[in-house]
Amino acid sequence: MLPSRSGSIPLFRFAGIQVYLHWWWFVFAAVEVTMRSRVYSSFFWNVAEYLALFVIVLLHEFGHSLACRQTGGQADQIVLWPLGGIAFVRPPPRPGAELWSIAAGPLVNVVLVPVLYGLSWARVHLGWGLEFADYGRFLRDVFWINFGLLVFNLLPVYPLDGGQILRSVLWFFLGRARSLQVATVLGAAGIVGLAATLLWLQPERWLITLLMAGFLGQQCLLGFRHAKLIRVLEQMPRHGSFRCPVCEQSPPGGPLWLCPACGNRYDPFSTVGVCPHCATARVSIPCAHCGTEHSVARWGLARAPRPGDAPVIDV
Ligand SMILES: [Zn+2]
Ligand SMILES: [Zn+2]
Ligand SMILES: [Zn+2]
Repeated sequence: MLPSRSGSIPLFRFAGIQVYLHWWWFVFAAVEVTMRSRVYSSFFWNVAEYLALFVIVLLHEFGHSLACRQTGGQADQIVLWPLGGIAFVRPPPRPGAELWSIAAGPLVNVVLVPVLYGLSWARVHLGWGLEFADYGRFLRDVFWINFGLLVFNLLPVYPLDGGQILRSVLWFFLGRARSLQVATVLGAAGIVGLAATLLWLQPERWLITLLMAGFLGQQCLLGFRHAKLIRVLEQMPRHGSFRCPVCEQSPPGGPLWLCPACGNRYDPFSTVGVCPHCATARVSIPCAHCGTEHSVARWGLARAPRPGDAPVIDV
């Protein structure tokens, strides 16, 4: 149920970020637009309102992606699907970088508040588009859609932006793994509360509420598991002489990397990147901490392997 590139249509590319639209979006768009068909006098405005929601979500996701790039992280994909947008961002594992990458999304909605208010004001006071009665309703609705998205996203429920902001702030005090653990446990409780509230407020939308709760719950569980993994990584010995160019962390010493050729696990940092099982040399090695991939030369492992090299772990 996770949105992914499979089942997605590539829409366009901007600033090196590829935007995909998941086919589920069309199904929900059709349902939403026809459900609201009596709000406007013309069907066109229903479509326009749904497209406006789409543009707002897209701008929000670009906020995350561009901020993440600014911190030196990786962000090259946005998938739009019925429950919103997902920016695939991987900021360097530092609390400040994480905080900025997350906060920049809702900040876009904050900026849009006066912009949308200004358009409504210009309609009434300057007569911009005053002749279209539906345009006034459209602006008011879009204003509240943006405002609603802002408030919803800021709920301190992991994995919503508010929950991730809470996690980044806790990181400064509790460390990377513990902060994620606390945020995901609080998040799980928050999702149950949120789903119960939404079911009570709009029982007719039970399906989308349950889908959303399921998706958020799944993300929470993944986050909790990831926290456990980080804890294990943090306790492992390190190869002190190598550093990831992105997150500046030293790789852990241990057979954690899968050989792409033979499928066995080994520690490329103690074998100059050569698999001890099948002697295949790696071209690049992913960082165990932030996941970014770097060439063997960039890790400082450029020395040609010699026969009989003893595996050395320099911790
Ligand atoms: Zn967001
Ligand atoms: Zn191998
Ligand atoms: Zn790294």
